[in-house]
Amino acid sequence: MAIIKEAIKQLLSRPVTLKYPFERVAPPEGFRGRPVWDMRRCIGCGLCSKICPSGAIEIIGKGKEAKIKYYVDRCMFCGQCAESCPRNAIAMTSEFELANYSREKMLYEYEREF
Ligand code: SF4
Ligand code: SF4
Repeated sequence: MAIIKEAIKQLLSRPVTLKYPFERVAPPEGFRGRPVWDMRRCIGCGLCSKICPSGAIEIIGKGKEAKIKYYVDRCMFCGQCAESCPRNAIAMTSEFELANYSREKMLYEYEREF
């Protein structure tokens, strides 16, 4: 009897799921999505690359001329890079819809504009 009661209750209630992508919820505060680099702040120390547990950051060159390659398909959004950057050059955004058919499009490149 309890199961019939529960079935009727569920039939009359609104679904808890959303019709994504037509319906969306905003990510909660503190959500860690794609990290982004502010190359005006970066000094090319390489710490973010060294600390990244999934090898998602590659540094080419040194100092202020360093270029950064970030592979979003390797990233696990732990936020270690942003936490460890001595210059606060990395910010974790709330961007999470990052899938793509091409791995080439999952590479983000950053370099300082002199
Ligand atoms: S840790 Fe910060 S300053 Fe150092 S290379 Fe990475 S982004 Fe640049
Ligand atoms: S968020 Fe974590 S996994 Fe992603 S690039 Fe930064 S340190 Fe690497």
